[in-house]
Amino acid sequence: MGGGSSPAIRPIGRSAVHRICSGQVIFDLSSAVKELVENSLDAGATTVEVTLRGYGEDSFTVSDNGTGIAPSNFQALALKHHTSKISDFGDLSSVATFGFRGEALSSLCALGKLTVETRTKDEQVGTRLEFAHSGLVTGESKMARPVGTAVTVEKLFSTLPVRSKEFRRNIRKEYGKVISLLNAYALISKGVRLVCTNTTGKNSKMAVLRTQGSSSLKDNIITVFGSNTFKCLQPFNVTISEGCQVDGFLSKPGPGSGRNSGDRQFFYVNGRPVDVPKVSKLVNELYRSSNAKQYPVAVLNFCIPTTSYDVNVAPDKRKIFFSSEQTILLSLREGIENMYCPQQCSFSINNIE
Ligand code: ADP
Ligand code: MG
Repeated sequence: MGGGSSPAIRPIGRSAVHRICSGQVIFDLSSAVKELVENSLDAGATTVEVTLRGYGEDSFTVSDNGTGIAPSNFQALALKHHTSKISDFGDLSSVATFGFRGEALSSLCALGKLTVETRTKDEQVGTRLEFAHSGLVTGESKMARPVGTAVTVEKLFSTLPVRSKEFRRNIRKEYGKVISLLNAYALISKGVRLVCTNTTGKNSKMAVLRTQGSSSLKDNIITVFGSNTFKCLQPFNVTISEGCQVDGFLSKPGPGSGRNSGDRQFFYVNGRPVDVPKVSKLVNELYRSSNAKQYPVAVLNFCIPTTSYDVNVAPDKRKIFFSSEQTILLSLREGIENMYCPQQCSFSINNIE
């Protein structure tokens, strides 16, 4: 490259920046559905229904019976970094909602066609809103609907040509990830009825997930995994330090209690589904001391103060930075070792990389 003149440095156009950044926040179908389901849960919904059309390729809707959106918020609803959940950096240390960055609706606008139907308890009728890729409202009309919100995204990734092609090619895989993601929320959400349906050209509406909205983890596990799997599980509870604990269910030790793949492992931090590779590696390694051929089923929730971890590591907030990771892993290891053949276990904490 050397030798030529230095090219001028210029700002990238706003709409190009918006599109580029949005593709990082919403990188596949499941990340799009995740954002909408989390918005519904943040709005206090007790029923959340996910409707996929063509496995999500044509469009998808997430509707809820939450608070609804007040007319005074319509214009700001899909603007980047506009949120009702935090107002400054300090609020982050105590944030209890799934969302707080005000990026999801704005990003979905940039990547497809967004429509919102909503009504609060203070409104007699609902409103249907249409949005431009920029996030601005382009259409507003009155409609009859119950209190709550339904967000529809049509033609996700139609504004990103490469992603769009891959998205359509891998749609069944993307769909599978959505189901797994919904299972994660179905297991941990108490008192929330979660329904997912898919409609394809040939078939009419097909229910792919339906939970009862029960108030215990045990009942949720039975609904999602079935009672036979539940019989192979054992409650797990370990105190990490004062005010910090991990609890849930783990496969009992011994043959036949696990699975041939690690597809039934769900980890949470204060109810937020997270990817914690070191934790899953630890759980798998320790389980192998009692059952070498299988992977354990695991549903574990880390209940720790909001000040002791950071979810702002990756745009999808699934990566977690723990301030005392070693303490957490050591306590977890001790608890699991007590459950799975304590004497035989030679696993070292230094191996968890
Ligand atoms: P965030 O969730 O990070 O605040 P979003 O872009 O996902 O950002 O949503 C922007 C705002 O829109 C939210 O802060 C919330 O006030 C409102 N909102 C979005 N979805 C819903 C919903 N299903 N019910 C009620 N309000 C919603
Ligand atoms: Mg959100």
